[in-house]
Amino acid sequence: MVSFYEVVGRLAVAAGIVLVLMLLLSLLLGLILIKKKKLILPRLLLFTMESFNTHFRRVARAFGMNDRIVDMIGIEVRNRLNASRFARVPPSERILVVPQCIRHINCPARLDAKTGISCKECGLCIIKDLKAEAERLGYRLFIVPGGSFVRRIIKAIKPKAALGVACYKDLNRGMQELSKMCAVLGVPLLKDGCVETKVDAGEIIRIMRLGIEEERQEVRCGRAEA
Ligand code: SF4
Repeated sequence: MVSFYEVVGRLAVAAGIVLVLMLLLSLLLGLILIKKKKLILPRLLLFTMESFNTHFRRVARAFGMNDRIVDMIGIEVRNRLNASRFARVPPSERILVVPQCIRHINCPARLDAKTGISCKECGLCIIKDLKAEAERLGYRLFIVPGGSFVRRIIKAIKPKAALGVACYKDLNRGMQELSKMCAVLGVPLLKDGCVETKVDAGEIIRIMRLGIEEERQEVRCGRAEA
């Protein structure tokens, strides 16, 4: 007769095997997403990354990959899953959040404790162009010193959609947290660090326009036909 402890032991081994298989499958699906741009079983990917993040990172490292791949997968999955919801939100209820580290080292703007950094449009960095586009589309732009600032803004103004820019690690973590509150999309920094980091401004602008330019085009066409 099998004892109670044996049953528990066998169940524990079975659960361990299932977990390892799930982590391996998720890593494979994540690599397919990054390399082939194919999204398969996104909910499984999200579940693995949210519930077993540390184990997932360990498995990736065991295959010679670094933590960035895990963050890349997390960002890509959420971008794919949230894009259509984001596109349906009117621009007046969207925000763009960029980190202060993309400013020029000689930026003349100062930090406000409530609203972040208020760009003076000096033109020394890309934020001037992002600000112009954000204002043209109707977004609110926040240039923030860190993650806690973003949480405060989200709680205070409760946007329905947010587009965030940050390093891979912070962006993945932030998107996971904010996904529960609004439709969040993200653009990772091309070069991270503390000052004068780099970002793909074209990609930010492309995402900012999601669901807006097409709509405006339709309104223009409708008027022309009338
Ligand atoms: S464009 Fe704005 S954010 Fe960039 S350096 Fe000038 S004032 Fe600072």
